[in-house]
Amino acid sequence: MAGPYHAIVVGGGHNGLVAGAYLAKAGARTVVLEARPKVGGAVDTSAPFPNHPEIKVSTYSYVMSLLPAFIIEELELGRHGYDVTPFGPYYQAFPDGRSITIYGDDANKTYESIAQFSTKDAEALPAYEAWLHGVTEVVGPLLHHVPPNVGSRTVGDLLSQLKAAWSMRHLGARGVADATRLFTMSLSELLDRWFESEQMKTIMMVDGLIGQWSGPDEPGTAYVLLHHAIGGVGGGESHTVNWGFPRGGMGSVADSIRAAAASFGCEIRTEARVQRILTERGRAVGVALDSGEELRAPIVVSCIHPKIAFLQLLDRSELPEDFVFDIESWKTRSGVVKINVAMSELPDFIADPGTKQQDHHTGSVELCLSREYAERAFQDAHLEHKAATRPFVDGAIPTTIDTELAPDGVHVFSMFSQWVPHEWSQEPHREELEAYADRAIDLYTELAPNFRDAVIDRQVIGPYDMEQELGLIGGNIFHGELTVDQLFHMRPSPGFADYRTPIRGLYHGSSATHAGGGVNGLPGWQAYRAARADRRRPKRLARGSRSSGTE
Ligand SMILES: Cc1cc2nc3c(=O)[nH]c(=O)nc-3n(C[C@H](O)[C@H](O)[C@H](O)COP(=O)(O)OP(=O)(O)OC[C@H]3O[C@@H](n4cnc5c(N)ncnc54)[C@H](O)[C@@H]3O)c2cc1C
Repeated sequence: MAGPYHAIVVGGGHNGLVAGAYLAKAGARTVVLEARPKVGGAVDTSAPFPNHPEIKVSTYSYVMSLLPAFIIEELELGRHGYDVTPFGPYYQAFPDGRSITIYGDDANKTYESIAQFSTKDAEALPAYEAWLHGVTEVVGPLLHHVPPNVGSRTVGDLLSQLKAAWSMRHLGARGVADATRLFTMSLSELLDRWFESEQMKTIMMVDGLIGQWSGPDEPGTAYVLLHHAIGGVGGGESHTVNWGFPRGGMGSVADSIRAAAASFGCEIRTEARVQRILTERGRAVGVALDSGEELRAPIVVSCIHPKIAFLQLLDRSELPEDFVFDIESWKTRSGVVKINVAMSELPDFIADPGTKQQDHHTGSVELCLSREYAERAFQDAHLEHKAATRPFVDGAIPTTIDTELAPDGVHVFSMFSQWVPHEWSQEPHREELEAYADRAIDLYTELAPNFRDAVIDRQVIGPYDMEQELGLIGGNIFHGELTVDQLFHMRPSPGFADYRTPIRGLYHGSSATHAGGGVNGLPGWQAYRAARADRRRPKRLARGSRSSGTE
């Protein structure tokens, strides 16, 4: 048996690396255990084209904005290669030869572009951005706090509920109404309140659809728009255009956190799949690996999907029944397909001709012609159980900014697309996925006729691949859907949203906890903080059976 360690982190995704880095920095002898041959999880750069090993892609996640400045500073990620450049505008070309472009840093150009469709919308945008800013000012900080245990009547929990309520006191009646709307309304309804032209509503909707198992007409979808508006790479005013490309692809972000963790003395082991979390008398004491090796530590931090951690690595009898029920019922669908395309030249859009790099190539290059287009793509997968006939794509061309990914003149077109049936996480559906990718490329070709011929190679990653390769059960990119019933004090289970679990010494820091998902490191950081707080108060009671919170 190896060790003893002070702390074991299960899963070397970016959250596991953040947890490992903070634990080691605090002086704990820590090991991060990753099943794959490399760390990073969904934060990865790879060279997927056997005939073109010189072309690299951000395999899964593709843009940064949510990692808070304090984590970047405290882990000194800049020193370890973290380097993110704000990207260009949001762009959508339309079949009628027009296009809309939303800049994060040029209000005049944005105004002109929107005014082609509606001057009222062009005038409304600053007020919309200011409104979104106001809401993110209130909701953003909540993501850095442990959610209160709502409903509990213990003195500590009542105090934290009061504290949370007090922090909202400046909201006022209208502010509360704004926040309520964001949590309950559909994207379509929300955008109807602000804009009149379909083109404007469509381009403003995109961030709200990412990773959702629902179309824009579904109540509650407005929240994801907010979740994605909270970060800000550019430091500009815009809460819509606030993303960036990391130099060297997303894998460089994981590499920088890995290097930071190692610099603090954290051991990182790859090809070290955890098979069991070991417990004794209701307390975590270590883990057993696939290899049969056992490692011991009084702190175990799980940074993997909760359905794996709690339903596979532990015996259900070790957990309270209602907790098991919550994890079994945890919704974890997406229907996302990632298509990484290598191209010999940039798309030559009818609306904005030219293969020479222009602003509209450098940001989000969307494929979503209307809200109905998006809703239809979802309903194809949801109701008709087939891949979308006309997929929605959040496109981006990182090589317009990051020259490390491909040789001069070659480009990588990253297509984050939706939807295929979420049940496809059970079977590869290889042929249908290839046909789906063909359709996405054909649809771009309708807008930019050189597109199809410029394709050098492509990689198509479906829900099955994501589940098998990364442990993203059901193919959900956030370890669990971002729906109101799975947020804040409910993420991942009421009474256990404070990064603790029913097992003493076992913490949960994956994207399935409050503030996840996305590449923000907050779950990993919070799990470390919970473990540290408990070490300072070792007599803390385990909450193995979730009570009503009365004492
Ligand atoms: C296709 C796609 C696109 C996305 N795009 C973006 C984006 O552009 N921007 C953004 O902010 N977010 C994006 N996301 C979401 C974001 O990438 C994830 O929310 C986040 O990376 C999850 O991080 P994590 O550390 O919690 O888990 P993961 O990255 O899932 O890491 C978990 C790790 O645990 C390992 N593991 C699993 N089981 C075991 C075991 N038994 N033993 C040991 N190790 C194990 C896995 O191999 C994996 O490495 C995207 C996700 C996907 C899939």
